[in-house]
Amino acid sequence: MHHDVIVLGAGLAGLAAARDLAAAGTDVLVLEARDRVGGRVEQTRTPDGRTVQLGGEVVGHGHTAYLRLAKELGLDLVPSYVDEPGRITRLTPEGRSAGEPPHWFGPGDAGRHERLGAEFSALAATVDPDDPWSHPDAEALDRLSVAGWLRSRHASPAVVRLWDIGQLALAGGSYERISLLAALRKSAAVPASGTGDYDYDDWEGLRLAAGSATLAEVMGRDLGPRVRLGSPVAALDVRPGHCTVRLVTGEVLTAEAVVSALPVGPLRSVRISGVSDARLGSLHRQRQACAAKFAAVYERPFWREAGLSGLSESEGVLGSTWPQNEGVLSALVPPERYGVLLGTPPQLRTPELLAEVAAMFGDEALRPAACHLRLWGSDPWTQGYVTQWPPGEVMAVGPLHGTHEPPFYVCGSDQWVAGYMEGAVRTGRAAAEEALRRG
Ligand SMILES: Cc1cc2nc3c(=O)[nH]c(=O)nc-3n(C[C@H](O)[C@H](O)[C@H](O)COP(=O)(O)OP(=O)(O)OC[C@H]3O[C@@H](n4cnc5c(N)ncnc54)[C@H](O)[C@@H]3O)c2cc1C
Repeated sequence: MHHDVIVLGAGLAGLAAARDLAAAGTDVLVLEARDRVGGRVEQTRTPDGRTVQLGGEVVGHGHTAYLRLAKELGLDLVPSYVDEPGRITRLTPEGRSAGEPPHWFGPGDAGRHERLGAEFSALAATVDPDDPWSHPDAEALDRLSVAGWLRSRHASPAVVRLWDIGQLALAGGSYERISLLAALRKSAAVPASGTGDYDYDDWEGLRLAAGSATLAEVMGRDLGPRVRLGSPVAALDVRPGHCTVRLVTGEVLTAEAVVSALPVGPLRSVRISGVSDARLGSLHRQRQACAAKFAAVYERPFWREAGLSGLSESEGVLGSTWPQNEGVLSALVPPERYGVLLGTPPQLRTPELLAEVAAMFGDEALRPAACHLRLWGSDPWTQGYVTQWPPGEVMAVGPLHGTHEPPFYVCGSDQWVAGYMEGAVRTGRAAAEEALRRG
């Protein structure tokens, strides 16, 4: 079959691209390996009707592309866990604290932390998120890790630890191994309305009332037969006006243009010809932080009784917890601890993770109605979680990041500054716009 455009992957990026292409009258076909749409957004329901998110979940007031699409689809947003009353919990091997400051802070640490947050924001304002390579100190900023920069700015070990536990809570990789330029670029992409890095309202203050995977489900339903599930792509040959896509079954499809909306890991397994070495080299260089998501469903949000919000940052196997829905706790296992989780016998994983939750919120945590553990880092169709940028990587991936080589277009959250559903929607729609502009 010949089509105008073939889109590879039915995650938020591929669906958003296909939706705009179809709306413009294009004959578009989406090829999806799994038997469902949504990719890294996936949800299930409890018997009493609460949705449980197993992947991407919250968005923020600064995520303009996502918010616009949700509005077009008529989907309502509600405040996320950020609005929950109560104190944050921090758990480390030597103790636990609720609220600020964390239990390992000493005199002067709070002031140092605040000063460095302001310094980081000021530095981020000098970086163009769309072109970090043009920064006069780009190479030097990229070579330095965020933790290295903090120490160079006289951060105490206690402050470095707070920044790192917060970063591990997001599961993007320790700040000891994240490029300062990449972190500044991410911060500049959604400038903080408060002070410091990563304002929680801007990045995580909202969620879809119907559950975040509903966005993908609605787009998938609207596209109907234009989405082919259970169709993993094995190879791609790109020629002007004639692209050939081969499925693992051997079936061949052709199109005028191809939009790749695949995560960078699975994309490396697709044999690609007709695309320049430079473009492919940059794409194949990109990497992902591997993470797992754990969700524990309870009858009620019992942590509230102790004045806790359910939000936590931890140095256990879990990096963080937060309430995703009434009585439902989400948790992330960051890349540094993913190997520890995989090394744990499967039957012990859930009990051991629940024991960590209990160490923060009490023994009621040991009695969930249901638990879900999703190993995204080792899922063949994801192989990760969000983009990871170790020192030197922004320069190595280079300015070809997120660019097209018509008739080969790329999109997906990995092609934005830092992953996220915003990145998927934003790059998906931009790829469709560019393909349409080029006819
Ligand atoms: C645990 C977890 C929590 C997250 N939390 C948040 C959050 O709270 N907020 C937020 O904004 N973001 C979050 N994210 C990130 C966000 O979910 C993703 O960045 C976004 O959904 C990715 O969309 P995408 O379309 O770029 O890629 P994907 O959703 O990965 O879609 C790619 C699609 O390609 C398909 N595919 C792969 N290989 C092939 C092949 N060979 N042939 C055909 N199809 C193929 C896959 O099956 C998939 O459907 C989270 C992610 C995870 C995993």
